[in-house]
Amino acid sequence: SGGFLDQLRFKGGIHLEKTTVKAVNNVSLFVNKGETLSVVGESGCGKSTLARVILGLYRPNAGKIFYGGQRIDTLSHEQWLPFRRKMQMIFQDPYASLNPRKTVRQTLEEPLRFHNPKMTSEEARDKVAYVMEQVGVDPAWIARHPHEFSGGQRQRISIARGLILDPDFIVADEPVSALDVSIQAQILNLLMDLREKHDLTYLFITHDLSVVHHISSRVAVLYLGTVCELASANDLFNEPRHPYTRALLSAIPKVGEKKAKHIKLKGEVPTPVNLPSGCVFHNRCVFARDRCKKEFPRLNELPNGSFVSCHGVEEGWDMG
Ligand code: SF4
Ligand code: MG
Repeated sequence: SGGFLDQLRFKGGIHLEKTTVKAVNNVSLFVNKGETLSVVGESGCGKSTLARVILGLYRPNAGKIFYGGQRIDTLSHEQWLPFRRKMQMIFQDPYASLNPRKTVRQTLEEPLRFHNPKMTSEEARDKVAYVMEQVGVDPAWIARHPHEFSGGQRQRISIARGLILDPDFIVADEPVSALDVSIQAQILNLLMDLREKHDLTYLFITHDLSVVHHISSRVAVLYLGTVCELASANDLFNEPRHPYTRALLSAIPKVGEKKAKHIKLKGEVPTPVNLPSGCVFHNRCVFARDRCKKEFPRLNELPNGSFVSCHGVEEGWDMG
């Protein structure tokens, strides 16, 4: 199976087209090798669903997923396995995602030996020690259980578990949200170091726009399963265009104060099962006009290469 995998290296990225899984509408995204694409949105916007579709945990009922040129959403379980090891996930809560009864060694060795049945115990132990060093956990602690570690260390161990199979692509779903603010930056820095050292590509999922500023190549802002804006991190933070992006940025004083005028959100997030007509954001948008209630705004490319889904941006309305 080595030759098979060699031909399926991550080249073009992952595309998710027209996925209509309930929580994710009209999403078309690609992730370039070596980049961090951050997907930002409030809870219930469909970002975790998107991650699970990409990883094959949910099957999309429409749309296609390509991993370097190869369509993967139609593969059988057996055909899926080689991709599965190349795509790993890091979860929000390391305590819930690590088995409390297993030692670090068991946690890290089990997937390793499952995917590499011929590996000797020495090789496995060396690999585990190496990966522990990579994430900054002392290999001398290999026989410890999760409860013997701090929250930050536990997240380092979950990251080690994500790395143990030498993945190309990592989906990190709110990887720092459960951690103290003082620890968050350490874990983000670790993830970025690992991306450099191991040539990784990330899909970084978060509700918190402030954590993605320095780690992202590009940012996609999702609202009720719809991409509002997709832009380079620089453009998104310096020149946000969609009213929802601008409202999110207004809520982060340090980042948003320079150019974005303060924008407030009206009302509540509707439920995804009862989507508003037209622009799904219209009941919360201070700039909404009649057209917004009737017509779904297309995701248009702007001259700077950003994509924005908003009638007001498209038609040049005065939006302050
Ligand atoms: Fe607001 Fe209309 Fe733009 Fe939607 S399309 S974000 S309602 S201005
Ligand atoms: Mg989630």
